[in-house]
Amino acid sequence: MPPSELGTTSMQNPTDSTGLPKIKRIAIVGAGPGGLTAFKSFLEEGVFEEARAFERRDDIGGVWYLDPLIAKQEVDRYQETRRGEYPFRSTKPSDDGQEERVHWPSPAYEGMMGNIPRDLIAFSDFPWPKPTSSSLSASEPQDIDADTGSDGAKNRNRIQDAENEDAELDMESLADEDVDIFPTLLETIAYIKSYAAHFNLLPHVSLNAEVVSVRYRKRDDGYVGWEVKVKTRAVGEAPTEITSWWDAVVMAGGMCDSLAIPNIDGLEALPEEQVVHARHYRSPTSWTGKKILALGNGYSSIDICAQSAPLAKTPIYRSIHHPCFFACLPDERVIDVGPIKRLYIMPSDAEKIGAELEDGQILEDFDVVILGTGYRYEFPFLRIPSSDTQEDVPATPPDRRRILGLYKHFLHARYPTLGLISYEILFTTFSVAQAQACVLARLYSGRLALPSLEERVADEGKCIEEVGDDHLFHVIPRYMKSGGEPAYGQWLREWALSAPAGGSVGVQWDDKRRMVVYKNIVKLKTEQLRRSKGRRINGAY
Ligand SMILES: Cc1cc2nc3c(=O)[nH]c(=O)nc-3n(C[C@H](O)[C@H](O)[C@H](O)COP(=O)(O)OP(=O)(O)OC[C@H]3O[C@@H](n4cnc5c(N)ncnc54)[C@H](O)[C@@H]3O)c2cc1C
Repeated sequence: MPPSELGTTSMQNPTDSTGLPKIKRIAIVGAGPGGLTAFKSFLEEGVFEEARAFERRDDIGGVWYLDPLIAKQEVDRYQETRRGEYPFRSTKPSDDGQEERVHWPSPAYEGMMGNIPRDLIAFSDFPWPKPTSSSLSASEPQDIDADTGSDGAKNRNRIQDAENEDAELDMESLADEDVDIFPTLLETIAYIKSYAAHFNLLPHVSLNAEVVSVRYRKRDDGYVGWEVKVKTRAVGEAPTEITSWWDAVVMAGGMCDSLAIPNIDGLEALPEEQVVHARHYRSPTSWTGKKILALGNGYSSIDICAQSAPLAKTPIYRSIHHPCFFACLPDERVIDVGPIKRLYIMPSDAEKIGAELEDGQILEDFDVVILGTGYRYEFPFLRIPSSDTQEDVPATPPDRRRILGLYKHFLHARYPTLGLISYEILFTTFSVAQAQACVLARLYSGRLALPSLEERVADEGKCIEEVGDDHLFHVIPRYMKSGGEPAYGQWLREWALSAPAGGSVGVQWDDKRRMVVYKNIVKLKTEQLRRSKGRRINGAY
């Protein structure tokens, strides 16, 4: 039946303002930290007939799963072609021998360090293990024993003992252990894997399973729900597409598929092999001896410049629009300049790139332009019936600035059997994803009531009123009038707590310890970088 024939007030249609239909089967897109915590919350309810996470990669972990074999092949391929590939076709040794496979590599890179303290991103029911050695003194990121999850609660330090949330931390007086609170990439993937193992999530995750279509439809037998098409790629077999039906779908596919490309005069005309987005960065060896112009001053751009400085031709130039909000150490090999007006191929040397800055300055002889400019929202496989014509429409606008029609950034207002985990931008990603998941699980099990359709739909307008309607719409710390990230996390927690019969909930944001650390994340990270300077691999930091 075509979507136009779908009613908007039938018993099974979740646009009915009385609440949700009976939900027995839930599909989750993605098995990164967001999908896994969603999954764990659904299992905990104990009432669903089936919940399944579909993950297109060959392992769980999302951003935090950097496959070294694929990363090495990406670097080698980049050396040959000077082009970033995504998805990446590779040969990875498997049980069946060498075989060409499709991969969606993580945007992570060698030597990546987390920017958020362990205690702040921890799931509320699974503390981080105490680090086995200090990353300040280690020459490489340390792996950890994946099954030592119970020790983290003892990981107290002087920061946590600060008297109140307004306390100014005296960085100089902090011991190394007070500052060495940021996890390495390896530590983080080990934490995620031990979380999945501890709660026995893996049997419910389908790996090598790419979700290629999600539609809200009425079947010929009258059932209304989500039709999900999944392409599976079992090793040694041709891809197969399987269609299945679900009462609810939870999107947890991350936001690294759709690149934000700045609108700079001349950028599109530059040779493809001289412009590379940070998503393709794996190792500074790609830029040995090259002169780099980096755009942006988010964490990726900062890290790439710091890691590349010892190998690239220096100085590296970094074009920025505003002072850095993140932890970043001054480095005489990296020079910050203002926004770029125009990029061009140099008339004197067709292999080099020049840049005219908005302040009139001319910079020349660049070999490569690195776009550390982030990502946009786009889900080519997801269509939702529009409110007026009922035709299936994309969930994001053409400029991909945000997701349309959400209630509180995580629930589709008119189709609340569509949940979205971790698409907002904030500091404490894992723990807020968990707080969202705990609410979704209770809503879908019927332990919590939905707010009215009117209230859900009105929320988007309120958000626009508070922060505007641009690409920073889902940046929760911008919602200062509403209390920002702590208030958002605490609101989710309290909503979950209002359901009868207990169960796990998001972290307690009233906790002074968290507020003290949260308020000082950037200062602490900067202090950690300062103390570890020169001691990390690849010259990073
Ligand atoms: C370079 C970088 C550095 C970061 N550093 C930090 C940090 O230091 N600290 C921090 O807290 N956060 C950091 N983040 C944010 C990070 O995204 C979150 O920590 C967290 O990984 C989000 O979890 P997620 O599960 O929502 O998404 P992801 O981790 O992106 O996982 C999404 C998963 O969904 C899968 N998927 C997507 N589409 C489909 C599909 N159609 N079918 C099947 N599977 C699909 C993907 O393959 C992936 O495995 C960083 C992000 C990036 C890009």
